[in-house]
Amino acid sequence: MILPGEAPPDFRDAHVAIIGGGPAGMVAAEVIAGAGVAVTLFERMPSLGRKLLMAGRGGLNLTHSEPPDRFCERYGEATAWMRPLLAAFPPSALIAWCEGLGQPTFVGSSGRVFPRAMKASPLLRAWIRRLESLGVRFVSRAQWTGWDATGALTFADGSSYGADAVVLALGGASWPRLGADGGWTALLPDIEIAPLRPANCGFAVAWSATFRSRYAGTPLKRIALSFAGRRIEGEAVITAQGIEGGAIYALAAQAREMIAREGSALLQVDLRPDLAFSALAQRLAGPRGSASLSTFLRKRAGLSPVAIGLVQEALHAGETKPLAALVKALPLRLTAPFGLARAISTAGGIALGELDERLMLRRRPGLFAAGEMLDWEAPTGGYLLQGCMATGVAAGRGVLAWLRETRP
Ligand SMILES: Cc1cc2nc3c(=O)[nH]c(=O)nc-3n(C[C@H](O)[C@H](O)[C@H](O)COP(=O)(O)OP(=O)(O)OC[C@H]3O[C@@H](n4cnc5c(N)ncnc54)[C@H](O)[C@@H]3O)c2cc1C
Repeated sequence: MILPGEAPPDFRDAHVAIIGGGPAGMVAAEVIAGAGVAVTLFERMPSLGRKLLMAGRGGLNLTHSEPPDRFCERYGEATAWMRPLLAAFPPSALIAWCEGLGQPTFVGSSGRVFPRAMKASPLLRAWIRRLESLGVRFVSRAQWTGWDATGALTFADGSSYGADAVVLALGGASWPRLGADGGWTALLPDIEIAPLRPANCGFAVAWSATFRSRYAGTPLKRIALSFAGRRIEGEAVITAQGIEGGAIYALAAQAREMIAREGSALLQVDLRPDLAFSALAQRLAGPRGSASLSTFLRKRAGLSPVAIGLVQEALHAGETKPLAALVKALPLRLTAPFGLARAISTAGGIALGELDERLMLRRRPGLFAAGEMLDWEAPTGGYLLQGCMATGVAAGRGVLAWLRETRP
C-alpha cells in the first residue's frame, strides 16, 4: 500500500473529495484514505477506471525499466517539473504497488514493464477492493459541474458536497466515450489551461486511392522513422486516412508542432533498417530485366507488399531518387494529426505554473489536480501511467500536508 510516509495526525473529521475515477484519482484516494482521512470519490461514468481497462486491451504497459535520468527526459518540456515527483514515486514504487495488489510484473524485451496478466482488469478489481477496505466511498454517475455560492462542489443531478480539500483528476480529452472529455476546462475559468491537443496520435497522409484501398489496416513492420534529428525503430499501421502506431506516436509531439507551424511534417522512412545502404545499393544495382518493379523490390530488397506500395506511391508522386535511397529514406508527408477522440493521450491542460509543489492550485487553496489533466505529455512506453500515478501520489500527499497545516 502507498503510505504517506509520516504518522498521520488526527484527521478523523476531515472530508476529502476526489473527482475522477481513473488511475490519478484512485491513487490519490489510496494515499489520503491510507492516512485515515474520509475520502469520497466521484466519477461520472457508471464504473471506475474505464480508460485503464482500455489501456490493458493491447497489454497494460505500466512503466519502463530504463535508468531514472533517461526516464525523466521522456517528459520533454515538463522534465524538470516531473523529476521530483518521479523521484518520490519512481517506477520501482509503481512496480511494488502493482505486485502488492497481487499482480506480478515482468520486463519485456523493449524494457517496458507489464503485469504478468497483461490485462488491467485483475489489477483494477484488486485496487477497488483495497480502496473499499480503506473506507473510500464511491459515487458513480456523478458528473461534477462546478461550485455553488458556499464553495460546495455541485453535480449534474443537483446534489452538492462540501469538502475540506478536493483533488481534480479528470483526465484529458482522448477517447471521450471512456469518460474524460475535457469538459472540465470550462469549469476553471480563472486558471491558465494550455489548449488540449492530441498526443500519441496518428497523422493524415494523402494516400492514392489505389494504395488506400489495398493497404488500409496493414502493419508496416520493422521500419525506422527519422524526423527532427531523431530516429525511431518500430512499427506503424497504414490506415485509410494516414498512418498510426508506436513508431509514429514516438515522434507525434514534434510532428504535431511542426504541422501547426509549417502546415506539414516530412518524415523519412527506412524500409530496411537492418540493411546498410551500401549493401542495399549493391543488391539493387543489377539489371531488372523483364521483372516488374514490384517483383524486383521483393526479390532483391526483400520488401513486403505494403513497403513496395510505399515506394510506388513515392515514384508516382515524382520522386527521382535512386531506388536504394528511396528504400532507406522514403519521404512521407504528414498533413494533420488525427483528432483527439482517437489519440492515446492528451497534450495541454492546467499550466504547471498554476500548481505549487504539492500540486495545489496557487489561486485556489485546498484544490489539487493530478494526472493527464495537467500540461505534460510523454510518449507511450509506460510513461503515461507512471506520470498519472506519480502526480496522483503527489496530490494525495499534498492534501495530507495541507490538512496538517490548516487544521488545528
Ligand atoms: C487505447 C489506450 C491505450 C493506452 N495504453 C496505455 C499503456 O499501455 N500505458 C500507459 O502508461 N498509458 C496508456 N494509456 C494512457 C492512460 O490510460 C491514461 O494516461 C490514464 O488513464 C490517464 O489517467 P487519469 O486518471 O489522468 O485520467 P482518466 O483515466 O481519463 O480518468 C479520468 C476520469 O475522470 C472522469 N471525469 C471526467 N470529467 C468528469 C466530471 N466532470 N465529473 C466526474 N468525473 C469526471 C472520467 O470519466 C474518467 O473516469 C492508454 C490510453 C488509451 C486510450
